[in-house]
Amino acid sequence: MPEKNRTYEVKIDTMNNLGYGVCRIDGMVCFVKGGVTGDSLEIKVIKANKNYCIGRVERILVPSPYRQEVDCPVFKQCGGCVFRHVTYEHEKELKRSFVEAEFKKAGLNITVKPTVSADKTTRYRNKAQYPVSENSEIGFYAERTHKVCETDDCPLQPEVFGRITSCVKSFMKKYNISGYNEETGRGYIRHIYIRYGKVTGEIQVCIVINDDKLPKSDRLCEELKNIPGVSSICLNVNKKNTNVILGEKYIPLFGNEYIEDELCSFRFRISPASFYQINHDCTELLYNEVYRLVTQGKCDRVTDLYCGTGTIGLSVAGRLSRCKLTGVEIVPEAIENAKLNAKLNGITNAEFICADSTDTQDNILNDSDVVILDPPRKGITQELADKISQSSVDRIVYVSCSPDTLARDVKYFTELGYICTEATPFDMFPRTSHVETVVLLSREKADDYIRISVHTKDLKTGE
Ligand code: SAH
Repeated sequence: MPEKNRTYEVKIDTMNNLGYGVCRIDGMVCFVKGGVTGDSLEIKVIKANKNYCIGRVERILVPSPYRQEVDCPVFKQCGGCVFRHVTYEHEKELKRSFVEAEFKKAGLNITVKPTVSADKTTRYRNKAQYPVSENSEIGFYAERTHKVCETDDCPLQPEVFGRITSCVKSFMKKYNISGYNEETGRGYIRHIYIRYGKVTGEIQVCIVINDDKLPKSDRLCEELKNIPGVSSICLNVNKKNTNVILGEKYIPLFGNEYIEDELCSFRFRISPASFYQINHDCTELLYNEVYRLVTQGKCDRVTDLYCGTGTIGLSVAGRLSRCKLTGVEIVPEAIENAKLNAKLNGITNAEFICADSTDTQDNILNDSDVVILDPPRKGITQELADKISQSSVDRIVYVSCSPDTLARDVKYFTELGYICTEATPFDMFPRTSHVETVVLLSREKADDYIRISVHTKDLKTGE
């Protein structure tokens, strides 16, 4: 049994999805923060539990070839990235193995292909939600806390985001406007939420406040407007004592109440309350894969559940000459965007319904050749899976940002008669613990078979 405070020489076998090196000491699994697959290390056990222990690197004896220099000064404190000390090739292979492990855990034998990536590990994000502390620190939460780890240039974000946060910071200083204290519920500015359209260059800045108005907001607007690209400024009111970042009310201050961007040559309008994929280039790769899977069979009628602003469904249907598209999404603003997005792209045969996907009407499902599922991390309900399986839908393209709930749902679909043989991970979130995955689930229809009756009669004797 490993003992607390004792040092050990270990070899790191692999890494977990939180970026910890994994090794064994006396047969017990040990997680080592900062350890990389292949490292030989001297570590100190800092915590010894019943089934596992935690180690801290004391000395690197022989560094792994997968190790690389960290390019961010706050990597150790910040809870955002977990793989900045690892080569990107190794990170992609680790993410593939995490997806594979989840399927195995669920008892599924599915080939997980190499991780697809746009291979950009910096400046790939188009969205940030920076918490603002009472002392006007602006940055990201430290690992597993709500303490703000200050950074004026996160390497995952476009450089201009740093200019925007600095601008808000000097505004706060100049007019003595405080950030928010989560414990007391006091203070004005809670978050700075920024979104950027990679193709259009349009930037929306949304200041989340703990009041119905922000003093001197006109001054802030004047400053922010000078930053190239800023085409929309608004406030979001969130007075609740909650971890949820955005409240329901938006107050426009300048410009449009949305930004536009392009994906796969289609134009999309996105309101601040609507979901939009955060990695533009990898999203295009992902949507192309969805298109490839959808078009592997009959796809005259496609239903896009959890459709957001309609981006996946429209980028598929827009490439097919006679495809009827139905999208279902729970956020009303996203549905408004989706309806307009169909128009913006001249797609007439599309309808969008604001509803919980689980409540999708049977006639919509019965009228579909393919269903696209792209739920949030918690996955889909069994009720929805049951409904789909009882309908005439024979093919499902499932896009997931959570390998464990994907494995759970795929397992359930296999129990309902669908087959899944392959999965492809997409690294939408390089350097972080997250990975996206796409699978195709299909079931054979009875009339896909050619029935051959075998007569057991002996042809010569006729018996
Ligand atoms: N397919 C879209 C959005 C995927 S994100 C895209 O690629 O951009 C998941 C979406 O599911 C979000 O827009 C979220 O608002 C929506 N959502 C969450 N719960 C839902 C539910 N129960 N029913 C329908 N939509 C839901």
